[in-house]
Amino acid sequence: MKNILDLDIEELKSWMKENGEKEFRAKQVFSWIYNEVWDFKEMTNISKDTLKKLEKNFFIGIPRIVETYSSKNSDTRKHLFLLHDGNIVEGVVMQYNHGNSICISTQVGCNMGCKFCASTIGGAVRSLSSGEMLGQIMVSQKQLGERISNIVLMGSGEPLDNYDNVVKFIKDVNSQYGLNIGQRHITLSTCGIVPKIKSLANLDLQITLAISLHAPNDELRVKTMPIAKVYSISELIDSCKYYIDKTGRRITFEYALVKGVNDSKEQAEQLVKLIRGMLCHVNLIPINEIDENDLKKSNEEQVKCFRDILMKHGIETTVRKEMGLDINAACGQLRKSYIEKREL
Ligand code: SAH
Repeated sequence: MKNILDLDIEELKSWMKENGEKEFRAKQVFSWIYNEVWDFKEMTNISKDTLKKLEKNFFIGIPRIVETYSSKNSDTRKHLFLLHDGNIVEGVVMQYNHGNSICISTQVGCNMGCKFCASTIGGAVRSLSSGEMLGQIMVSQKQLGERISNIVLMGSGEPLDNYDNVVKFIKDVNSQYGLNIGQRHITLSTCGIVPKIKSLANLDLQITLAISLHAPNDELRVKTMPIAKVYSISELIDSCKYYIDKTGRRITFEYALVKGVNDSKEQAEQLVKLIRGMLCHVNLIPINEIDENDLKKSNEEQVKCFRDILMKHGIETTVRKEMGLDINAACGQLRKSYIEKREL
């Protein structure tokens, strides 16, 4: 049995043909699925025989929302998605004035081992298929009752450690027979797997690439991000420049500010030297404090001071709006507490 969402329209057309069906059935099936009909039996314009064949070969892999936590003002909701094999991933839906965004997971857990991140405790169980990524969006959209128009790949997992499925997802999500969300509305965040950044650049996609930098020098970066032992910051920055050259797209650097660790004036100046002149933007994130470590978030003045130094040097900088703090919305915290509860 295969998840039908792992197929794109051309693949489903070929399947129809190979199985003695008319190709246009593929469009009909997708049209039902993308109109939120997730049971083959309800596809009333398709013959019983064809439906039987479909049922024998495919399941419609929409994850089930097992829990939802809404923030008080309900502009943020965090879902726990149950996948068909019993694994759990999380996603966050955020409602902004300019439209609805979703943060989805690309893997169950993560192998990157960043010290500040709750998703990586316990490593990666497995990677998600492209259809499982689509499914998170589809079920969230149904629950919201509104279209979701922006996607960020910032849930659990390292997208570039699941490169092929993530690239397929980016292409599939764009399909007019599917969710029809343009590449410019997709942000892929990576801890910095350099060769994969280069491969991605060569695909010439129009997505936004976000780099989890979090430190202005290797000495500090290796302390919290094991990937920094494999690729130096200078190699990382070179791959970013290559990406910008190839795609013409502006890169985002994510920098989570930790009190007394990476938030000093000198470190801001170091960061300036590193990225000045690049087509980029810095997103400062007051770190989300998690139980598993004692990292504390920088206070407001420190964040402002850091931002001002970057801005003074002409580097466009925003401070990420903190949403959903009251519902543990950040970074793998929920899946972990849910699994712990389930295992009791
Ligand atoms: N693996 C990818 C994407 C998932 S993490 C990556 O590393 O980019 C999404 C973002 O959340 C990354 O920038 C990550 O560094 C950040 N993050 C993880 N834990 C965090 C925490 N406790 N507080 C703030 N940001 C965190």
